[in-house]
Amino acid sequence: MLINSVSELIGHTPLIDLQIDVPHHSHIYAKLEMFNPGGSVKDRLGQYLIEDGIKKHKIGNQTTIIEPTAGNTGIGVALAAQQHHLPTILVVPEKFSFEKQQLMKALGARLINTPSELGIKGAIAKARELAKEITDSYVPMQFENPANPATYYHTLAPELLADLDAPITAFVAGAGSGGTFAGVTQYLKEQNPATKAIVVEPEGSILNGGPAHPHRTEGIGVEFVPPFFKNVTIDQTLTISDEAAFAQVKQMAATQGLFIGSSSGAALAASLQVAETLPENSQIVTIFPDSSERYMSEHIYE
Ligand code: PMP
Repeated sequence: MLINSVSELIGHTPLIDLQIDVPHHSHIYAKLEMFNPGGSVKDRLGQYLIEDGIKKHKIGNQTTIIEPTAGNTGIGVALAAQQHHLPTILVVPEKFSFEKQQLMKALGARLINTPSELGIKGAIAKARELAKEITDSYVPMQFENPANPATYYHTLAPELLADLDAPITAFVAGAGSGGTFAGVTQYLKEQNPATKAIVVEPEGSILNGGPAHPHRTEGIGVEFVPPFFKNVTIDQTLTISDEAAFAQVKQMAATQGLFIGSSSGAALAASLQVAETLPENSQIVTIFPDSSERYMSEHIYE
C-alpha cells in the first residue's frame, strides 16, 4: 500500500471478533482504534474538527488552534493541524499520561498544563482565556461542537455496519466528551431501532449519580452530562471500577495479544455484563479507543 500522507490512514480500523467466553454464547466485537496513525479513536475527531473549521472559514492560513483535551484529542488535533501547517496550543490537566503529552509535543504542539484538581473544566476555562488573548485563534471545543458526534456518525458508525453482517444487538461505549457514543448511537438506532445503546463510565464519573472523584481509567468519565446526550436514547449506563477495567486490560494482553488502554478495558467489562442480560447469540459491538502503550509509565501491567 503506497500512501502520500498519514492522514490517509485515519479510519477503516479492524473490528475483531474476540475469542473469549461470553455469557449466552454471544459475541463481543471490538473496533481497534489504536490502529489509527496517532494511536486512537480521536484522530478521526482531529481531522474532522480541523476540516470543518476550514470549510466554515473559522480557520485561515495562520490561525492558532487551541483545544482543551485529556490527550488523545490533542494528538488527533495536532496531527491534523500539522498537515495544514497550523500552530497548535493544547491545554491539558497535568494528571494525564506522560506519553500522550510527549506525543503532542513531538507533533509540534505547544502544551499548557492546568492543575489536576481543576479537572477538564479548568482546561476548558484556560483554553477560552487564551482564545481571548490570541488574535486569529480558533477553539474547536470538542465538548460542545456538534462536529464531534458528527465525526462518529459519518465515519465510525457506518464502518461498524459494513464490518459486521449480523444485526447489532447492543452497542457499548465509554464517554469522555460523549461524542463517540452519541454519534454512533444515533446512526445505529436510525438504521436499526432495536439496537440497544449502553454508555460506560468509571467510578468517580457522575452519570449514574455517584460522587465525582479521581479515577485511574483514563479518557472516560464526565464532570458534567455531555450536551450531545440530549439527542440520543441511552438504554443503560454502566459504572465500571478501575479494578475491573484494568483486569480486562491484563486479560486482553495475556490471551488475545491485544494491548488495550484502560477505557477499552472498561468497555469490555461492561460488554460482558451486558451479555448476561441479553438473549442467546447476541452481537455486542464495542470500541477499544486506544492502546496500553501510551500508559506504560503508569505501570498498568503490574
Ligand atoms: N477512551 C479514550 C482513551 C479517550 O481518550 C477518549 C476521549 N477522551 C474516550 C475513550 C471517550 O471518547 P469521547 O470523548 O468521544 O466520549
